[in-house]
Amino acid sequence: MIDAVVFDTKPYDRESLEKASANSGITWRFLEPRLSTETAVLAKGAHTACIFVNDRADRPCLEVLANLGVKHIALRCAGFNAIDLDAAKALHLTVTRVPAYSPYAVAEHAVALLLALNRKIPRANNRVRDLNFSLNGLVGFDLHGKTAGIVGTGRIGQITGQILRGFGMRVLAYDPFPNPEWAAANQIEYTDTTTLARQSDIISLHTPLTAETHHIIRKETLQMMKPGVILINVSRGALIDTTALIDALKTGQVGGVALDVYEEEEGVFFEDLSGQILHDDELARLLTFPNVLITSHQAFLTQEALAEIARVTVANTQATATHSPLLPGTSLT
Ligand code: NAD
Repeated sequence: MIDAVVFDTKPYDRESLEKASANSGITWRFLEPRLSTETAVLAKGAHTACIFVNDRADRPCLEVLANLGVKHIALRCAGFNAIDLDAAKALHLTVTRVPAYSPYAVAEHAVALLLALNRKIPRANNRVRDLNFSLNGLVGFDLHGKTAGIVGTGRIGQITGQILRGFGMRVLAYDPFPNPEWAAANQIEYTDTTTLARQSDIISLHTPLTAETHHIIRKETLQMMKPGVILINVSRGALIDTTALIDALKTGQVGGVALDVYEEEEGVFFEDLSGQILHDDELARLLTFPNVLITSHQAFLTQEALAEIARVTVANTQATATHSPLLPGTSLT
């Protein structure tokens, strides 16, 4: 039997992991708390600790896990900013992730947000349910013929760019490691960040969160953009300096924002806080703008993505327990 403890479990995690692990020899312990130094002790006796985006696997936490005998940290996500990889290596912990569970899920959500924001679908839907059939204030614009800027042309950024090309948009892209063949095949133009910022009507972020990309959207970069620009962020919250974003929304420099991620989302996103007091004043302010649309880190949430996350997590948990090779491209240590 392989003992695997799952932190920050939601019903859909439980369902997909159980489905993918029939006859696998894995015994799951599904826990609701997020992983932190304080909760790490719950992993006592486990071979694998399975974690998600808002768990905090920093050095002190990993030291507790290693001392308890945990051998494997399985991230059930692509981004790995939640874990201190240097500490994990030093502690001989194997760390795996699910690099590409469904880039389509995330790209399609980015575009869903863009369409809903531009055509004011949530407001229109609320109105109609209240038998208010007026169209005042619901004017959007055609995407056809506008310019989109894709920052980061990895798996998700590429698909987002392709979908936007399908709308007849001009698509600009920036990536320190460009893919010229893909760009040529899809008539997408690589450019520098300044040109992308100056020329794009819509900018969509698809980079991982690193020291270099932290606050790539901040006061100076916002000032370079076209007045009224629409920003889409389905990647990581801290790519955007929220204070600067709120200022730019107030002046109208930013014409609309769709966020699936937020700088301070930990402890808020994924939770039902209805009926409670929201203590985050910046999130509260963002929620007051009619041209801000927020979802709670749900871009990944499709049946296909959940099944793939579970498949890779189960395979790597078995592999680490039996000293077999990990699935290609999933190892981080
Ligand atoms: P990927 O590794 O395939 O692509 C990332 C791209 O960003 C790479 O091409 C890389 O060269 C580029 N990049 C790195 N630094 C850059 C910079 N400074 N400027 C511009 N580009 C830069 O990753 P992916 O699968 O496309 O995922 C992208 C991000 O999306 C992940 O890191 C994760 O944070 C986020 N994500 C969010 C969700 C969600 O549910 N909201 C789900 C999955 C992934």
